[in-house]
Order: sequence, then C-alpha cells, then structure tokens
Amino acid sequence: MAELRETSGTVPGKVILDHTIPKQEYEGLRLKAGQTVRVIDIEGEQVMDTVTLDANDPTEHSSMPWSNFLNRSWRLRKGHVIYSIRCNPMFKIVEDTVGVNYSGSGFCTAESNHTRYGVPHTRNCGDNLAAALAKFGIPRYLCAESGEFAIFMNVGFDPDGTCEIRPPKSKAGDYMDLEAQMDVTLALSVCPQERNPCNNFRAKPMRVIVYQR
Ligand SMILES: [Zn+2]
Repeated sequence: MAELRETSGTVPGKVILDHTIPKQEYEGLRLKAGQTVRVIDIEGEQVMDTVTLDANDPTEHSSMPWSNFLNRSWRLRKGHVIYSIRCNPMFKIVEDTVGVNYSGSGFCTAESNHTRYGVPHTRNCGDNLAAALAKFGIPRYLCAESGEFAIFMNVGFDPDGTCEIRPPKSKAGDYMDLEAQMDVTLALSVCPQERNPCNNFRAKPMRVIVYQR
C-alpha cells in the first residue's frame, strides 16, 4: 500500500492539471477526447461523486441504466465504459485499483439528508455537482441523478433484498483513471456525507490529475 501511495501521483503522460479538492468541496472540469482524469483517494475510504455531460451539448448526460446494461454489470470497474443517455461512450475506466464503485444512480441531497437524519441544510453532492456545472453556465436541472457514477462507493445488494451503503474498500493512494471518449464536462463532488458509512463517517479530501498520453 505504501507503494501505491507513492505511485498514484505518477501518470503515464503529460500532466495538464493536478489539484487537491478539499473535503466536502467540488470541481468542474472540461476534458478533450483522449485526455484522462485520475481520481486519487488520498487518505482512503472516500467517495467521489460524478456526473458527465457532452461538452458540446449539455442535454446529453451520463446514464447509469445504460452503462449497467451495455456493460452487463452493476459493478462498473476497469475495462467498463460510462455511456450517455444516447448510448454514446463518454469515459472508459482504464484503471481502477479498488474495483468497487456504485452505478445505481442518485446522489446525496439536502432533502435526502433531512429525511434520513432530520437535519436540514447539510452539505451534499447535489448542491456540489450543480455548483460544479454552474461554473460552465449549465443549469441545475441538467444535473441528472440517473447520470451519477460514484467512484469507490460501496453499496451492498444482498440476495435477501437488502440494499445499503457500506464503508468504501479504498485505501490511501487508490485511484481510478477515466479516459474521455468525447469532449466532456465533468462535475465532481468529494462526497460531504458524514452521517452514514459512505465515507465511513468522516469526509476527506481527494486529488485529481488530468493528463494526456
Ligand atoms: Zn454524497
């Protein structure tokens, strides 16, 4: 694991951006087709929520239903592709040192936190992702819950029907590389959740590196 921590910051290409997003914060990125974004879990057990849009047409967004069906998997990992609502490839997962991610749609919101925990006005991924897209003038209603891909989020689907959020399997230095298959706008939220095991009850920062092979 010490080796992972040292190598996760070394990318196979030219670095275009290297940025640490503080805990509970967000970032909006534009990537050209062929560029790759590496998402690094700096401390471990932290989830990065993402929604992807076509950079040239923000009405075309990522679709987890189609991504699951076209990959024939509900646990997207290395080798799988994130597809759009029009079934166009948006990202290819070219590396994933964890292999446990969530593609069942939905992100935490102020409303869901209020319903679940009785606490109003909490930091949440819905607001973060909307703010990331606002940077590019994209309105909130184009930030679709069905487009949400949660990197390192661990949701159990048990044979008895139980479906619940569990602590991430990611350790310090684990990372995922997503290679853009079209020009994209990528909204990122370092999930602020501290009231359930999503981030094992403690929000932490994450690092993103954009590179060109
Ligand atoms: Zn969240």
